[in-house]
Amino acid sequence: MRIAIPRETHPGENRVPITPEVAKKLVRMGADLVIEAGMGTGSGYTDSEYSDAGATISSDRKELFSSADLLLRLRKPELDEITLMKRGAIHISYLDPFNEHGLVKAFKEAGVTSISMEMIPRTTRSQKMDALSSQANLAGYQMVIEAAMALPRIFPMMMTPAGTLKPANVFVIGAGVAGLQAIATAKRLGARVTAFDTRPVVAEQVTSLGAKFLEIDLGETGETAGGYARELTPEQVEIQRQAQKDVIAKSDVVITTAQVFGRKPPVLVTKDMIEGMAPGSVIVDMAAETGGNVEGSVPNETVEWSGVTIIGKGNLAGEVAVDASQMYSANLFNLVEDNWSEEKKLFVVDFDDDILPGCIITHGGEITNDTIKNIVE
Ligand code: NAD
Repeated sequence: MRIAIPRETHPGENRVPITPEVAKKLVRMGADLVIEAGMGTGSGYTDSEYSDAGATISSDRKELFSSADLLLRLRKPELDEITLMKRGAIHISYLDPFNEHGLVKAFKEAGVTSISMEMIPRTTRSQKMDALSSQANLAGYQMVIEAAMALPRIFPMMMTPAGTLKPANVFVIGAGVAGLQAIATAKRLGARVTAFDTRPVVAEQVTSLGAKFLEIDLGETGETAGGYARELTPEQVEIQRQAQKDVIAKSDVVITTAQVFGRKPPVLVTKDMIEGMAPGSVIVDMAAETGGNVEGSVPNETVEWSGVTIIGKGNLAGEVAVDASQMYSANLFNLVEDNWSEEKKLFVVDFDDDILPGCIITHGGEITNDTIKNIVE
């Protein structure tokens, strides 16, 4: 089976889908591995490292797409790249299928099996393939680093002959994978951390990291069978906003990571709350690219409101591209290995598997994922 890895072309993307170490493993499994020339450059890997791993290096991008049986990449493809692919070929990457309806239709029409890395179920067995988690973990760390760089104060308490510096107050909204890592990182740097999440089960995880959990009575919240937060009603969002107001006013740093799977993220920090913060304070809005948790945040930009710095940088995991590539590459490998037939030396699309069907979007000229089908068709 020919496995092809194209170069990522998105501006500023330094993560790569496959490291040389994983390339070696794929070749050892019996794959005919083809890498586009320069594919590893963003994370510092050379073509010769991939050829030493047993891969063929190709400079013909079109041929790479048209000859692939299985195409592995990080970001979603361009529409014209899908039409280059063979019917029956498999494409695995992030796809953003809730929003990319044109892409889903193009995969369906091309008869390509598309597998979305966002749709890997959050189960114990699939953890090793879970790219949302591996990248969110790094983003959580990086958000705190970005905030610390922008804050004109230090995070830890310092008692010196020249006086005592108080620890910075950090408030984290949303304590999923990214939020918990942000809490842990801010604690390691010596900050005093408070956090809130609508899923009550998270409170214990927050306190076990040494942070304080802000109690807000929102009534019924809970989580879906998949472990995701349920969307709040507008009334609940308003209660949350009011209850957070004081904490936000006293915070030097606010980090927002609140997401509701498949929906627009809620706006939880409004301009009047920002105006209550001390000048020089910093907000990092991890949801800026998908709509924003913070009023006035701008995707991929740093803006100022009322003396408060608001960071809307997307692709935070991409700021630590070497580690992000290593983890994403391992996620991809684990997915391939889990579905690989040793005997036939190919990736088997098995609809009886307990993980794969949930993340297949299209197969055999149909949209096989019911949730996406209902949205797209
Ligand atoms: P996510 O990115 O979908 O959302 C981030 C966080 O925002 C979540 O914790 C969510 O509860 C929270 N949130 C939503 N609305 C909010 C609001 N109004 N205010 C404050 N917080 C709000 O979450 P995620 O990090 O992808 O994790 C989703 C779920 O999957 C969690 O339950 C997590 O524990 C679980 N998970 C399970 C596994 C596994 O078992 N393999 C792996 C990773 C994650």
